[in-house]
Amino acid sequence: MSRVGSCITVYASRHGKLLSFLAFMKRIYLDYAASTPVDEEVLKAMLPYFSETYGNPSSVHAFGQDAQSAVDTARAKTAAALGCLSQEIIFTGSATEANNLALIGVAEEALKKRKNIHIISSRVEHESVLEPLSYLEKERGASVTYLPVTSGGFVRPEDVQNALREDTALVSIMYANNEVGTIQPIAEIANVIRAHNKKFRVFFHTDAAQAASYLPLAVAQLGVDLMTLSGHKMYGPKGVGALYIKKGTPVAPLVHGGGQEYGKRSGTENVPAVVGFAAALERAVAHREEAAGQAEALRNYFIAQITARIPDTRLNGSRENRLPNNANILFPGANAAELIVALDMEGIAVSAGSACQSKALAESHVLSAIGLSKKDAKSSLRFSFGNYTTKEDLDAVLDILVKLEKKFRVK
Ligand code: PLP
Repeated sequence: MSRVGSCITVYASRHGKLLSFLAFMKRIYLDYAASTPVDEEVLKAMLPYFSETYGNPSSVHAFGQDAQSAVDTARAKTAAALGCLSQEIIFTGSATEANNLALIGVAEEALKKRKNIHIISSRVEHESVLEPLSYLEKERGASVTYLPVTSGGFVRPEDVQNALREDTALVSIMYANNEVGTIQPIAEIANVIRAHNKKFRVFFHTDAAQAASYLPLAVAQLGVDLMTLSGHKMYGPKGVGALYIKKGTPVAPLVHGGGQEYGKRSGTENVPAVVGFAAALERAVAHREEAAGQAEALRNYFIAQITARIPDTRLNGSRENRLPNNANILFPGANAAELIVALDMEGIAVSAGSACQSKALAESHVLSAIGLSKKDAKSSLRFSFGNYTTKEDLDAVLDILVKLEKKFRVK
């Protein structure tokens, strides 16, 4: 996302335009999949832990114990939201770190017992899964199978079944995709893995960073051994994530030091962030159905309007089993990078969900995996809605899109 941000900056400065005038116009944020604002109640819960309760949770004195008690409460709340034990929750600095800990941590433990390990994942995972997997392949000799997805964007449980080997140590399949919002059949995949009763146990990890606001998170029902969450995708703070690690799942730490987080992630706990994380998760679980219903109504309206008003536009990825707040739209022939900048100039924030190399948007590996051509992948925009999105916002965006889209069509 930040690379798309810098892409916009490059464009804006190349075109000699100043962004400061944006301050005077109503801005519309349709990039909730990139990050969400911190909820007011969440912020309120965090504030005392900056300068009132500021002790180090590892200190024995009362200042330290007050901070420790806040971390303990946050861990208990997080565990309650996932239906697991407190000791099964590790707070991290991000979902990226949690994904790294899950993948590299499980792989390193397996490599202590045998020389060759196999991992199964998919072609539509986030970079914070794909990059550690690439590291494990290159530096640790792991063999990784990247499963294809259907044109709708789904991993087939039977493909997982066929890919499982005698030496498979880990399966990592995301819960909901960050670009096209498709929801993977996690419980079905878990059943397939459980039925595979070979010499070595296969652990199952899911990256649920995009799922927290809208999908059930009970780990027992999902059947996962490890699950990643991110604070800033669910109206909590940035720079905090969590990894659920089912009791009995061997995970080697990546960060060594004072032994915090049950020895799995050393470093003094970020107390306000951890408190904010738990408050955000608790809030997300309590308001899940309401938030999903609201987002879905907006999304359906947006898709209906855009496909009716702009010829040839279509939704990328399946409409069924999709996050209620995601609409990834193909504007055939349009240059998505230029469209993003033009929308930004109008005060509208959207994303392409793909990386940027200097001024061009790189081809999205997710859109390629669901079968889009390079050209169509570069003509697609991700609109993601959230708690503060209104129908009036969408009407304003639709009017501007109708106006701009023609201008950025490349014939
Ligand atoms: N996983 C998915 C599916 C994501 O969408 C993101 C963020 O975009 C991440 C992981 C990384 O989250 P964080 O920003 O907390 O590192």
